[in-house]
Amino acid sequence: MNDPLISVENVSVSYGDAGALDDFSLDVAQGSLVALVGPSGCGKTTALRVIAGFQHPDEGKVTIHGTVVVGNGKDVPPEKRNVGMVFQEYALFPHISVAENVGYGVRGADRIQRVHDVLKLVGLEHHGSRFPHELSGGEQQRVALARALAPQPDVVLLDEPFSNLDAPQRERMRRELRKILKGAGATAVFVTHDQAEALAIADVIAIMRDGRIVQFGIPDDVYAEPVDPWVARFLGDAILLSGVVQDGHVATILGSIDTRLPAGSHTDVMIRPEWISPRIDPDGRGKVVDREFYGHDQRVEIELPGGERIEALVPTANRMTVGDRVDLEIVDAIVWEKK
Ligand code: ADP
Ligand code: MG
Repeated sequence: MNDPLISVENVSVSYGDAGALDDFSLDVAQGSLVALVGPSGCGKTTALRVIAGFQHPDEGKVTIHGTVVVGNGKDVPPEKRNVGMVFQEYALFPHISVAENVGYGVRGADRIQRVHDVLKLVGLEHHGSRFPHELSGGEQQRVALARALAPQPDVVLLDEPFSNLDAPQRERMRRELRKILKGAGATAVFVTHDQAEALAIADVIAIMRDGRIVQFGIPDDVYAEPVDPWVARFLGDAILLSGVVQDGHVATILGSIDTRLPAGSHTDVMIRPEWISPRIDPDGRGKVVDREFYGHDQRVEIELPGGERIEALVPTANRMTVGDRVDLEIVDAIVWEKK
């Protein structure tokens, strides 16, 4: 990455004895939308607070747009960092209009124009004179986003911005959010505990566990090549098996999986349900014992000769029925040396 817009280097934060960030590092490229995703309590909010300047790190350094904002003896206050923040609970001012909320941090002669432009960007140009309570949850969320974008910040930080919305609104908003941020050319870090949301929306996803980033990459790559079983399971459905390497392969209940690990290695093997391709075959080793039809695909539960059951996700063109005997082809698999 050439010259990241935000660079967080080796930041540690503890509250009393408890560590919230542990040698946390993150680079964010200009114009990219990074999702910081991890289970509740892993340190996501703390990381955003350090970047924004609301939390002083015990150690480490943050650089924004080439300027060290904290570290090396410096500590630039939040209002001087040119960072916009969208909080979980929106934090709109209830007693002033939408336009006044949006214009709150904007100075200069073109303030009215800027407020209009940014309200238009979020599709609320006709709602400027309303009060926050006269808007739906999704509209309030867009006002919060407009307010963060209005001063033209270098960076927008969003902390679980959809947590107050119901499921259909969330899906709509996440698509809109992506379009709005891209339309504004913004660089953004978006925090969520919802891996599906992170995979759907982000250019790059950073997976956090226990105060540090365990994997960083484009969604396709981290999904297809998780670094360990924990990340594999966190990001989606995963069948986890184990076995010892012999002769360039691991023998598992699903058959033999190729690997370059040396003979004798103890391994964890991970297969996504859509990496299993069952084929109807009267002499097949497996038997379909359950099936759920989704239209675009089907989830098929298959019983193996040893009685184990696994689930495959299969395109509906390859129609399966309960009772079918199937042979299994494993299209892809990840093999890790056991830790
Ligand atoms: P996340 O946003 O991923 O849920 P947080 O950054 O809020 O995680 O918290 C990380 C850890 O730090 C958690 O264990 C949390 O309980 C703890 N923590 C957060 N804020 C404080 C605080 N002000 N005082 C003490 N502990 C805190
Ligand atoms: Mg949080």
